[in-house]
Amino acid sequence: MVKVKKIISGDLQVNCYLVYDVDSKKALIADPGQDGAKVIAEIEKDGLIPEILVNTHGHFDHILSDELVRRHFNIPLGAHKDDAPMLSDPYENGSYSFFREPVSIKDPEIFFEDAMKVKLSFTEFEVIHTPGHTRGGICLLFDGFILTGDTLFAGTIGRTDFPDSDHAQMLKSLEKIKRLSPSLTVYPGHGSITTIANELRHNPFLR
Ligand SMILES: [Zn+2]
Ligand SMILES: [Zn+2]
Repeated sequence: MVKVKKIISGDLQVNCYLVYDVDSKKALIADPGQDGAKVIAEIEKDGLIPEILVNTHGHFDHILSDELVRRHFNIPLGAHKDDAPMLSDPYENGSYSFFREPVSIKDPEIFFEDAMKVKLSFTEFEVIHTPGHTRGGICLLFDGFILTGDTLFAGTIGRTDFPDSDHAQMLKSLEKIKRLSPSLTVYPGHGSITTIANELRHNPFLR
């Protein structure tokens, strides 16, 4: 059985998620955020065996401890090809202006594209390209749940006023999300866990 664990990471309160198999303990890590040490400690406490690291998008608050986690577990990083340039560029990923230290992450080993099916040892997910907040933002669609990064939050959506944001693209991306099964549990990049059904009812951006 596949489960999801949320770890709130760092000052900007990014939701890092561990998607893992209860029996084999194999795991996916999404957006370790700033506090990689906390994420590693949780993984080791639970005896999980990570096999991939994924970024929902290239903003610094989500990627800060990518290198730490990637090296610690010796696992590949996956990110959408359109956000890959942000990872290595401290100006593009915002770390230079928003954070004390510029952060540069080496290129992903896996470049995601829309509709790509990614097979792991214990499950698989589909990449849904959801540009708007950033050019290469993605949602990860699993059986029964979805990780939405900074595209969709409980009650609202991600900001579209950054230099590489695009509000019109965001509206198109939300149209994709509206067509998904209402029964999906939604694990957003910040804040509370919700469902598509809840958001269709209460989120003004999904009406
Ligand atoms: Zn963001
Ligand atoms: Zn964020």
